[in-house]
Amino acid sequence: TDPSLIRNFCIIAHIDHGKSTLADRMLQSTGVVSSRDMKAQYLDRMDIERERGITIKSQAVRMPWEVDGVTYALNMIDTPGHVDFTYEVSRSLAACEGAILLVDAAQGIEAQTLANLYLAIESDLNIIPVLNKIDLPNAQPEKYALELANLIGCEVEDVLKVSGKTGEGVEDLLDEVIKQLPAPKGVADAPARAMIFDSVYDTYRGVVTYVRVVDGMLRPRERIQMMSTGTTHELLEIGVSAPNPVPSKGLGVGEVGYLITGVKDVRQSKVGDTITNSIKPATESLGGYEDPKPMVFSGLYPMDGSDYPALRDALDKLQLNDAALVYEPETSVALGFGFRVGFLGLLHLEITRERLEAEFNLDLISTAPNVVYEVMREDKVMITVTNPSEFPEGKILEVHEPLVSATILAPAEFIGSVMELCQGRRGTLRGMDYLSEERVEMRYTLPLAEIVFDFFDHLKSRTRGYASLDWKADGQQIADLVKVDILLQGEQVDAFSAITHRDKAYAYGVMMTGKLRELIPRQQFEVPIQAAIGSRIIARESIRAIRKDVLAKCYGGDISRKRKLLEKQKAGKKRMKMVGRVEVPQEAFIAALSTG
Ligand code: GDP
Ligand code: MG
Repeated sequence: TDPSLIRNFCIIAHIDHGKSTLADRMLQSTGVVSSRDMKAQYLDRMDIERERGITIKSQAVRMPWEVDGVTYALNMIDTPGHVDFTYEVSRSLAACEGAILLVDAAQGIEAQTLANLYLAIESDLNIIPVLNKIDLPNAQPEKYALELANLIGCEVEDVLKVSGKTGEGVEDLLDEVIKQLPAPKGVADAPARAMIFDSVYDTYRGVVTYVRVVDGMLRPRERIQMMSTGTTHELLEIGVSAPNPVPSKGLGVGEVGYLITGVKDVRQSKVGDTITNSIKPATESLGGYEDPKPMVFSGLYPMDGSDYPALRDALDKLQLNDAALVYEPETSVALGFGFRVGFLGLLHLEITRERLEAEFNLDLISTAPNVVYEVMREDKVMITVTNPSEFPEGKILEVHEPLVSATILAPAEFIGSVMELCQGRRGTLRGMDYLSEERVEMRYTLPLAEIVFDFFDHLKSRTRGYASLDWKADGQQIADLVKVDILLQGEQVDAFSAITHRDKAYAYGVMMTGKLRELIPRQQFEVPIQAAIGSRIIARESIRAIRKDVLAKCYGGDISRKRKLLEKQKAGKKRMKMVGRVEVPQEAFIAALSTG
């Protein structure tokens, strides 16, 4: 295809502002999917995406559209909608010349609208501002058109108004995409360079890689090379998604499509990497490549120890489709055999856990998530700590913790309350802007550890559900962090060790010891429960002794009943964990981990 007849764009929006619905409508308007075949959110393939209404994996679709008698090829690239996947979003944006900035006409601008807009601006994209859902009775298109125009610095009249639901304005929008966005530029006779913006494992076809060709051409049967690693593969098939795969004789400058090489693992075809021709390779890659970096770690254990091999197989399978997922075996006194798993963020953790449970039928327990620390030991050696158990004992020179820059949008009346929350989480205010009289954008730097757990829930409840949040990784800082251990009769219970700020160590200790006192049944002897930093005890509880004689309840005689009780007690013992001399039902540990 002649590059001047191509337009590459994506839709960026806050969650629920109607991106998937609009994308579906465009597929219908351009005739690539008939109304008969249309099912809601055609592009959101994974069940879990559909359930949660979020887009995790992006897809690209080619659609024909005619303006003034000329037929253009529109490539729509669907970006993932969640903060955990910022890097993937940035790669999808880099594959486009322009973005439709979609805003719900009844809600106005939200945090993800801004975060995505900033990313789009960083990628030098042309922005087309669009208000969606104008069919809603409570839509306020005039008000929000002004807000949007102020934000991106355009005229109010330039803000388009559509309804993905009724289809109103969608055809005009497609016309504007062609008129307003530039055609892709590239050098047709240069060595081929294509950027990978997505890579998906397919049971039948192996890994399907989505690319945007920048220079040159890629043809079937050629040998291609991944520039980050130098590995080469035979290009078995290349084509466009329309939206079903249509093989072609090659993709040239500006084109967007898929390719198949027969690799079986997405880590061999990494998002952000540049593909070139191995016979006539490009000298410079397209840039912007980053290895996926897990930000949050958690222990994952099967409830039933015999499921351990099944959990390992399930993780192996998920990893074929998820280059960001990393894991290694781990054992815990309290929980048995499991894995330490690294995730891009909390949503990634939740999604992975849900998939393991739903698709692989596993019952799992996860330990409290922690971030990655760099710790300088007394001997000046820097070590990476992804698990509290790796935190060095004894003297430590420095601990570096990861930071994020967060964008919070809230009604102005909640400014005080949001500030209070952020201060309590060791946040630093970086700036504040009014988007309108009643809505403010607050920019904070916060330790990642302070927001991975329950920050969003607190933010929502303090703002009656009106605040929105987005964040991205933003460097590190030195902080006064300590490891708090929980001891049962002097024995450390690994699953409950946590790295916290020194000022919060005491609160954690009191909370955890209190919780365990409630949950652990009494023993034949008194059991102290302590929280400690190194050898210093910071909180203490104890479980009083009882002399529990089950048989005494049987009032003599009935042998068979006594027997049953003894058997029941024996069966119960199997699920007991020994911590030193203390017998703890696994359920107690599980309960302590699962209740906030
Ligand atoms: P996404 O999270 O941005 O992909 O949003 P969806 O496309 O999943 O839409 C979120 C919700 O808004 C769904 O319940 C849609 O049916 C609804 N919705 C989307 N577009 C419109 C629209 O133009 N009008 C109305 N009334 N509802 C819409
Ligand atoms: Mg969606």
